[in-house]
Amino acid sequence: MKLFGFPVIKYDECLMSWLVRSFSGIGESSILQYISSLADPDFDLENEKVLDFLSGLGVGGRVARDCFGARTAWLLPWEERTAYCFRCLQEDISSGSSPYWRKSWCYLHNPICVKHRELLEIADPISNELQKSWTVFIQKCSEKYGLVPDFEISWAHPNRFGKKLMLALRVQDFLTRAHKADYIRLRGHDVVVSGAAVLAVARLLFESFLFPRLRPPCGDGIATGGRAGFPRTAGIISIEQARQRGCSDSNVHSRMTALILIGCVFKLFPLERFKDVRDALELTADVYSGEAYDIGRHGMRLSSSNEYKLTIEFLDGLPAGLKGCLGEFISGLNNSAPDVILG
Ligand SMILES: [Zn+2]
Repeated sequence: MKLFGFPVIKYDECLMSWLVRSFSGIGESSILQYISSLADPDFDLENEKVLDFLSGLGVGGRVARDCFGARTAWLLPWEERTAYCFRCLQEDISSGSSPYWRKSWCYLHNPICVKHRELLEIADPISNELQKSWTVFIQKCSEKYGLVPDFEISWAHPNRFGKKLMLALRVQDFLTRAHKADYIRLRGHDVVVSGAAVLAVARLLFESFLFPRLRPPCGDGIATGGRAGFPRTAGIISIEQARQRGCSDSNVHSRMTALILIGCVFKLFPLERFKDVRDALELTADVYSGEAYDIGRHGMRLSSSNEYKLTIEFLDGLPAGLKGCLGEFISGLNNSAPDVILG
């Protein structure tokens, strides 16, 4: 979309990306002032300050929501919006425009670039500046041509992941469709189920599978096995906060593993495909089979008998078709004992 005097808003572009591109010619002081009091400079399009600011640029509320609105509530927080696809940025440049930040990179369930079928890369959150697109582009070019950057940034370089990536991408596509459609077909089961119900179950699974690392081995989500370093629970005082923290982490490896496990629960691919990749996922022995029953029995991180009861009730209340698809998983959960994880 073209607004007079400003660059064209690109498909799937984040608000801050467009603002930075718009103001790069005249300095960023007004943007800095604008974001200083906002919790979410990209997606808080109900905020009066944001609407006033955009209105001053000639962008009405409806246009703002149409162009910059999120396609999901599953957003990584502002400081964790560090995952990006370098090849997308590269194409922006080679097409003669400035690189821009995509909204889809900010979604929990999207660790993979759909266009290039590659795992996103992660920029250091500490260096996550307003000019994110240019920062990562320049850094990457410096590395490529052997130049030493004058600022220090550490980078995670995903290799090519082949089969693992393609399985995760299948689940990512499934969840993207569930966000868009009221109803979605589960092919293996030949039933049509509500997109909202699928998302409610998927969110429950994400929260368990990505549960942040505690004192090992207690409590760690099963998708976090490949992570190194210290536990990530500093400052967390409740289970709810911990679940939020797990789902607020941009780590692409954990998110890719969680997607594959969600695919196992929904049976989105034959178990044989999972067996091809499971050794690379660093799973605990009790869910290594990839069977939905085992994941239900051993893979959930429920904190109390009450939470366990509520989860069983939630699953029991699902529409019949979806409940049928999840039968083995529910059966496994019914035969498990809740783990007490935070004391
Ligand atoms: Zn890409």
